[in-house]
Amino acid sequence: MIIILFGPPGAGKGTQAQRIEKSRGLVQLSTGDMLRAAVAAKTHYGVKAKGKMDAGQLVSDDIVIGIIADRIKEDDCKNGFILDGFPRNVAQAEALDVMLAEEGVKLDTVVQMQVDDAALVDRVSGRYTCAKCNEGYHDTNLKPAVDGVCDNCGSTEFKRRDDDNAETVTKRLAEYYAQTAPVLPYYADKGILQQVDGMVAVDEVAAQIDAVLAA
Ligand code: AMP
Repeated sequence: MIIILFGPPGAGKGTQAQRIEKSRGLVQLSTGDMLRAAVAAKTHYGVKAKGKMDAGQLVSDDIVIGIIADRIKEDDCKNGFILDGFPRNVAQAEALDVMLAEEGVKLDTVVQMQVDDAALVDRVSGRYTCAKCNEGYHDTNLKPAVDGVCDNCGSTEFKRRDDDNAETVTKRLAEYYAQTAPVLPYYADKGILQQVDGMVAVDEVAAQIDAVLAA
C-alpha cells in the first residue's frame, strides 16, 4: 500500500506516519527528515537545502524528487510506504506519478489531515522528538509516560527542530497555502483524496485513518 499523509506543518503527519509504520508495516518516507539528515551530514544536497529550510521555504524540486526517486527503489519500500511531506507542489505530484509508474506500483490513498490554522503554531512550537528513535512528543499535548524518558526506546535525550519557531512556522504555513494546498484538486480529480479531522486526540485521528485505509 502506498499512501500520502497530506496537511500543513503541525497537522500531525509525522506522528500518524509513525503509527501506521508500526500498525501496517509500511515505511515512513519523510522528505523533511531526509533533508535534515543531509544537512547534518553536510552533503552537497544538504548544504544547498539548508538556507531554504531555515527560511521556511521549499527546497528545489530537483533535490526532493531525486531523493524520493532513489529511496522508493530500496528493498524496505517493497511492501509499501507512507509519504510524509512529499509531494509539496503540483510538479512534485506529477513527478511522483511518473516514478511510481516506472516502479509498476500505484498510489492508493491521499489522506488530508484537516486542522485549524490557529492550532498549528502552538503545535509546532511545542513539539520535540526523541534524539535516538525519533518518536514524536509535545510539551502539553503528548508527553512521555515518564517525564524525560522516551516511551519507545527509553532514551533520555530529546531534540527540537531549528525551524519549529513561531516566525518560521508562519512562513511555512504561507508556503503551504501558496504551493502545497493546490495539489489537493490534483488528487481529488483522481478520486483518491480522503479527509480526516486532525484536531481530535492522536488516537482518534489514528482510528479515522485506519478506517479510511480499510475502506
Ligand atoms: P517538514 O519536515 O516536512 O516540515 O519539512 C521541513 C522543511 O524541509 C520544509 O520547510 C522545506 O524547506 C523542506 N522540505 C521538506 N519536504 C519538502 C518537499 N517535498 N519539497 C520541498 N521542500 C521540502
